[in-house]
Amino acid sequence: MDLSGRKALVVGLGKSGIAAARLLTAKGARVSIADQKSESELADQLAQLPDLHARHLGGIVSAAFDDIELAVLSPGVPTKTQAIVDARARGVEIVGEVELASRFIDEPLAGITGTNGKSTTTALAGHLLTTAGKRVFTGGNLGNALSNRVLEGGARDVCVVELSSYQLESIVGLRCAAATVLNVTPDHLERHPTMDAYVAAKARIFENQRAGDVAVLNAGDARVRTIATPSGSVRQLFDPRGDSKVDGIVAKRTGARLIDVSGHTYSLTARTLRGDHNIENALAALLLARHFDADPVALQRGLDSYPGLPHRLEPVEILDGVEWINDSKATNVDSVEKSLSAFPEGSRAVILILGGKGKGTPYAPLRELMRTRVKSILTIGQDAPRIAEELGDLAPLTACGDLATACARAQTIAKNGDVVLLSPACASFDQFKSFEDRGDTFKRLVRGMR
Ligand code: ADP
Repeated sequence: MDLSGRKALVVGLGKSGIAAARLLTAKGARVSIADQKSESELADQLAQLPDLHARHLGGIVSAAFDDIELAVLSPGVPTKTQAIVDARARGVEIVGEVELASRFIDEPLAGITGTNGKSTTTALAGHLLTTAGKRVFTGGNLGNALSNRVLEGGARDVCVVELSSYQLESIVGLRCAAATVLNVTPDHLERHPTMDAYVAAKARIFENQRAGDVAVLNAGDARVRTIATPSGSVRQLFDPRGDSKVDGIVAKRTGARLIDVSGHTYSLTARTLRGDHNIENALAALLLARHFDADPVALQRGLDSYPGLPHRLEPVEILDGVEWINDSKATNVDSVEKSLSAFPEGSRAVILILGGKGKGTPYAPLRELMRTRVKSILTIGQDAPRIAEELGDLAPLTACGDLATACARAQTIAKNGDVVLLSPACASFDQFKSFEDRGDTFKRLVRGMR
């Protein structure tokens, strides 16, 4: 793709927009940007882009597309924005950032999408392939924009890319030599009008596959296992519960072990991969890695040494036999269900810190898991009264107000063998900048107890 001298517009100056603008500039295009934020709100981002031809700020208007030949959309920008619809009707080529980047990448892509577990599976597949000796770029929606792969140059064997449904909406020719859809549950329905449209957006990850490529599908998810894949691409179904009657399963859980397409077995014992949901993530990552000829012995080493992602059941410290775990990314009830089920039933060893800015959904789905696993509830933030009302009969509950008080309280009641788990089931914005800020604060407080 020759971009030299072409007039390009980047719409949306998030992380991927900045990377796209830098990539376009590096390829010789004349780059403009458009964003609904103001110049002062975008001061930091603009400082990273000294060579812009024009800036259209404070709204995405049709004039920004005048003379433009190629527009690159950030995933957060709705494709139905009027100026974008009009520009497309006038023949402006409009692509997403991952599509742009993929046009300059020679090595094969391994793509990962799904409602939950994308980041974990992407990071794990990247780690497995690296452990198996491959030169890997890991990124996409996971933080390191795919355009950065092009900017950094050098040779790679494979690019492992997390792809959100928003990113997949704007692909054209992007091809994943191996790709997976992990699961599809109702989410983001504000942007996708129906569940079928949401599944269809995810299924686009297989769209450009050719003969010999692999489509890795979760047989445990009825919406996923029926996704149609191109003829020629090899369907590989995995079964995370190990009880599926569906045909064509090539990898599954068998008791405490996982077994892959060629009959190799693996154990999953890393503290960073606790919980049944991680069986799903691990099976998908193993199949992706196997497609690139990763050696099973190295893959087991990779599963054992996976460092985990921050804020997702992240082990922080073991202090006097008490394990402290940061699961700040659990901003809804669903995620806390997954996290609690990672701890043994009947042990009632978990001291659970819950609360923050509630999502308005009931906490009741947690009741059974809490009854069998939680010994004490510590609440923080705005939604504390509602949590007390809906769950307060299940275990002793202390309204702590803030996280520092909750940690201090946990320290006084925790006994050898207990787990203190920050898995709040709420957004963080009532007391913190973000879930990352909340998790980092928790880690600082815990490390201060050493
Ligand atoms: P994503 O990138 O799709 O948001 P993450 O890997 O960051 O997913 O995980 C976010 C949360 O989703 C985890 O903390 C966990 O509670 C839950 N989760 C992870 N993997 C799965 C899965 N395969 N199925 C369901 N929930 C999952």
